[in-house]
Amino acid sequence: MVDTKTPVGNLRMIGSVYESKLKRLNILTVEDLLLHIPFRYENFSLVSKISRLQEGEIVTVKGKIDKFENIYTKTGKKIQKLKVSDETGSTEAIFFNQTYLSNIFKDNAIVTLAGEVKRYINNLSFISPQYEVIRQDSPLLHTGRLVSVYPETEGLSSKWLRSRIAALILKLHIKIPEFIPPEITKKFGLLSMEEAINTIHFPKSLKDAQLARQRLSFNELLLINLASILRKQKLKSQKTDFNLDLNKFKSLLDDFISHLPFSLTAAQIRVLDEVLKDLVKTTPMNRLLEGDVGSGKTIIAVICSYFISLNGYKVLLMAPTEILAKQHFFTFKRYLQPLNIGISLITSKEKTENLNTENQKTDIFIGTHALLFHNFSDEKIALVIIDEQQRFGVKQRSQLRSKSLNSPHLLSMTATPIPRTVALTLYSDLDLSVIDQMPKGRKRIKTFVVPLNKREAAYRWIEKEIIESRHTKKTFIICPLIDESETLKSVRSVKKEFEILSKEIFPSLNLDLLHGRMSPSLKDKIMERLINGPTDILVATPVVEVGIDIKSATIIMIEAAERFGLAQLHQLRGRVGRGDKQSYCLLFTQSNNPQVINRLKMLEIHHIGIKLAEDDLRLRGPGQFFGIEQHGRFGLKFTDMADLPVIKIAKVAAIDLLKKHNTLNRFPLLREKLLQYTIPNISLD
Ligand code: ADP
Ligand code: MG
Repeated sequence: MVDTKTPVGNLRMIGSVYESKLKRLNILTVEDLLLHIPFRYENFSLVSKISRLQEGEIVTVKGKIDKFENIYTKTGKKIQKLKVSDETGSTEAIFFNQTYLSNIFKDNAIVTLAGEVKRYINNLSFISPQYEVIRQDSPLLHTGRLVSVYPETEGLSSKWLRSRIAALILKLHIKIPEFIPPEITKKFGLLSMEEAINTIHFPKSLKDAQLARQRLSFNELLLINLASILRKQKLKSQKTDFNLDLNKFKSLLDDFISHLPFSLTAAQIRVLDEVLKDLVKTTPMNRLLEGDVGSGKTIIAVICSYFISLNGYKVLLMAPTEILAKQHFFTFKRYLQPLNIGISLITSKEKTENLNTENQKTDIFIGTHALLFHNFSDEKIALVIIDEQQRFGVKQRSQLRSKSLNSPHLLSMTATPIPRTVALTLYSDLDLSVIDQMPKGRKRIKTFVVPLNKREAAYRWIEKEIIESRHTKKTFIICPLIDESETLKSVRSVKKEFEILSKEIFPSLNLDLLHGRMSPSLKDKIMERLINGPTDILVATPVVEVGIDIKSATIIMIEAAERFGLAQLHQLRGRVGRGDKQSYCLLFTQSNNPQVINRLKMLEIHHIGIKLAEDDLRLRGPGQFFGIEQHGRFGLKFTDMADLPVIKIAKVAAIDLLKKHNTLNRFPLLREKLLQYTIPNISLD
């Protein structure tokens, strides 16, 4: 029997190779697969007769296969040519390097082709179209309709995902159980889960798809609200017994601050004050520190950690990537080691690296999510700091906090601009501090969307900048994917790009390559070669996105920029311009769609994250749920910041539910789900 909890590897239609590919997308169970939702839809619903095809149209045609041939060109390329006709005429589809298609396209079979109509050697043709061989009574999945496009990974295409999801829904009739009480679904007029899942993958209209997504969004929002209300109740009842003493250490803190290499901005001073005031209270702090990239959040974390250490307590600091954890480790070390404070780095399950401290006790543990696998119950943890908190799930965040036996203070930090109203609705248990000011002397990062014909000139300019600076200026070149992917052919893959750039474009410069699938120690070496070594240009995937602070980096060039959300581009851009040198951000796109270009041009104008986030919402095309980066923003998988109405009703529903059924005993499924969102030791009874 297959149900939602069945591991995907147990399904005959998936098997072990695909099981491991799915794992990369965090898809482990049937439920995960059903909840892997599209981020946009391709509109192939216009169905046309072959005689009426027009160049440039995006259409579906249906016809009989007249002929399929594999053609080998003189230059050794393999081209596939498919001839299809209906009662009005005939057309061709051209494919490249897909010889296996001869097993699929049999003479006289009925197929559909979908895609843009193009002129190919004087004929109207489809170039690498979507296709479907029609079998009786099976509905169209990949053509002739709105077609779901999913977040993909190497060797795992949207088409593959779509067909497996269709089989789960249509053949196996798997249903995700309802965990929301009927009184709520009725009151707020929500779709049933069955309708929602079906519709989100195979919608009739974009409006239906939107309603389906809002149902899923309601699910997660209700849980977040319930958890947040319960946490707030719990926190209010908790006492901290740390007795942190601000008066006693005030002058040491002031002394520390006055010896920093810069003076704090007014915003940093205000925020620090808010945090310190919380730390001396007898209830645990639960504060979100929001500040644009480069606004100087880290130093706030350093000062607070220093304060905690002075009081004889310890700090846990968690960062989302190893590179960032290590950078924090060195920053903390630089500021605090001279004051005899011990700092350890934990980036693997097994061991703690006391890189700096021989036999010294640790006051501050810095690490990645590997921290979650260590036992700190003997440590007197008084403060937990989570950097780039939007990168962690709700559960990981509460897990880290529960590492300590006491109820530690929590400081979450993020550069993701959350509109205040949204933050307060979502996280009613959080207090908000905002650094709304940049350090003095920062120059604006000059940003350009570079037209295709200026690409070569841009390369030569980068080369000149590097050489004239005597190789002190560093450049990032960002490419979206690691390997060439079948379905994302146009995207420049980082490996291939690296080859071309180092051999053909910049043969006289030092280039290096960094991507997410390298081993941590290799990543470190590569970063080291960039920061203090000979590397001039680092070609990388967006792993460099969060947090990295390299003062000598002055140029960032981003390929296929249209594939990123504006907020993410802004984050990426924040990797440069961190010192006092003029910095540059060059955006490249293959697209000549004016909408795409205009959206990218927002980055030329705006230099403030929140402004860009707003524009991103405004400019997003219909049927496009999220900018890619928005998946998983704030730990939300289905919710869009534009969903304010849903955000509001979910809050009302949560308050209602807890008022009427304060133990939620009548709703075991809901309680089970809620456990994923709450601090483990919160009891619902
Ligand atoms: P983010 O808020 O993005 O985490 P960081 O904390 O990494 O930013 O700070 C970016 C850079 O700005 C760091 O090199 C940091 O030392 C520096 N910085 C922080 N505060 C100030 C300030 N008040 N004046 C000048 N530079 C500062
Ligand atoms: Mg940071």
